[in-house]
Amino acid sequence: MTSGSTMISLDKIHKSYGSVEVLKGVSIGIRAGERVVLCGPSGSGKSTLIRCINGLEPRSSGKILVNGHELHPNCENIADLKGEVGMVFQQFNLFPHLTVLQNLMLAPRIVRGTAHEAVQAQAMRLLERVKIADKAHAYPGQLSGGQQQRVAIARALCMQPKVMLFDEPTSALDPEMVKEVLDVMIDLAREGMTMIVVTHEMGFARTVADRVIFMDGGVILEEDAPASFFTRPKHPRTKEFLRQVY
Ligand code: ADP
Ligand code: MG
Repeated sequence: MTSGSTMISLDKIHKSYGSVEVLKGVSIGIRAGERVVLCGPSGSGKSTLIRCINGLEPRSSGKILVNGHELHPNCENIADLKGEVGMVFQQFNLFPHLTVLQNLMLAPRIVRGTAHEAVQAQAMRLLERVKIADKAHAYPGQLSGGQQQRVAIARALCMQPKVMLFDEPTSALDPEMVKEVLDVMIDLAREGMTMIVVTHEMGFARTVADRVIFMDGGVILEEDAPASFFTRPKHPRTKEFLRQVY
């Protein structure tokens, strides 16, 4: 367990698509250095919540603070926070027409305007860290899914975020590639990164998470340290979910 200052604060987040309310008042506080696994059935609102946190989706109401900065309701000031929150998607979302190295360098060059040489040096260090520096000049389509996802993680880290959000980062991977991606995430956790990870990899949750949050129907039904979450789930819906996932 870590005890840092509050890195992310969500207060009564509501989100509707048309008349359908998919987040129904979600409140969470996440400390600096904390690793949170977010789980729950498909359609429970996990991706929507994650997308609200990094301003990809405007919320309907509620307050979001990232590292003390308030994200405006329509996300108009997201540029101020862009560097603070890194995001990794299920489908990698690399730019197919750019090389691995160019994928990493794009945002720091354009958003930050950092000098080419400095960004390139940092990008290469990150590619070494995710053990894929030999592919720096390859295109995403020439890489396996596991390699692409490691590149996507390095790309997010290239903006030097304070928080990393992962939305089912291993769900699109062939089974033999899941471990290489989880290993990178475990390293990141050990280095003290604040992380919110949507995943059904319960082994990862047990090893890495400080806290597991279970969502269903747009609300948080239960949250606990992994040891008690997995052995003594309280809510009947949590019990049913855990039976299905294992
Ligand atoms: P999860 O990630 O837990 O599977 P999502 O956040 O993707 O859940 O979705 C929650 C609910 O919101 C689902 O019922 C989904 O159909 C709906 N939803 C998600 N995105 C949109 C959208 N862009 N427009 C309309 N409905 C959406
Ligand atoms: Mg989802």
